[in-house]
Amino acid sequence: MKLTILGSSSAGNCYILHNETEALIIEAGIKFDFVKRELDYNLTKVRACLISHEHGDHASQAASFIDSCIPTYASKGTIDSIDIESSFMHRCEARKQFSVGRFDVLPFATKHDAVEPLGFLINHHETGMILFASDTYYLPFRFPGLSHMLIECNYIESILKARVEAGKLPEVVAERVHQSHMEIETCIDALRANDMSKMRNIILIHISQGNGDPVTMRRRAIEATGKNVVVAEAGLTININKEAF
Ligand SMILES: [Zn+2]
Repeated sequence: MKLTILGSSSAGNCYILHNETEALIIEAGIKFDFVKRELDYNLTKVRACLISHEHGDHASQAASFIDSCIPTYASKGTIDSIDIESSFMHRCEARKQFSVGRFDVLPFATKHDAVEPLGFLINHHETGMILFASDTYYLPFRFPGLSHMLIECNYIESILKARVEAGKLPEVVAERVHQSHMEIETCIDALRANDMSKMRNIILIHISQGNGDPVTMRRRAIEATGKNVVVAEAGLTININKEAF
């Protein structure tokens, strides 16, 4: 199984888990044309798209996913906010597991300024457990036996503070960042709190262009875990099997 990142920023988010026969999309913040191209126009293998919350960079393209008959899953709060009614739009709920093809998905509540935001714990026999947690200022749970983690690492407080002091960022925006996105120290604490015994890849996602620093963030995550740490970038594909081969 591979993970392809089509976008991982406030400009648009979309991640695809895919092998020869199956694909699972996470987030609909990128034009569906890019998804089609990435999957070589083989849409029959797409089992579902999961949407974490209603903000445009995660959900703005949901209608075109639905128009292409992609079963799309989100919380009731998210569905109400994006206001899509379709037999392809499915409601999912925190702590209620469901399966799409051979992917088992367990949604969980996240901490973000959205109506009913969710993270996802995804299991597939090829990948092992994958955690997806974006747009959450805190990870409210611990997860045993993870093989891969896609975790938001949005900003560094000292950079954010310096930008406010230099007049480059309004204080109200900085306050919103505090209450909705994950700071590096919180991310490091979350990595340390989780079981690393089976961890193969830690993927730092949704890094802020202005308030983050991918090099420092990656170094800190490696120091904290000793694991392979990847900074998410549009166009990147990585092997996401649970074994090294
Ligand atoms: Zn958001």
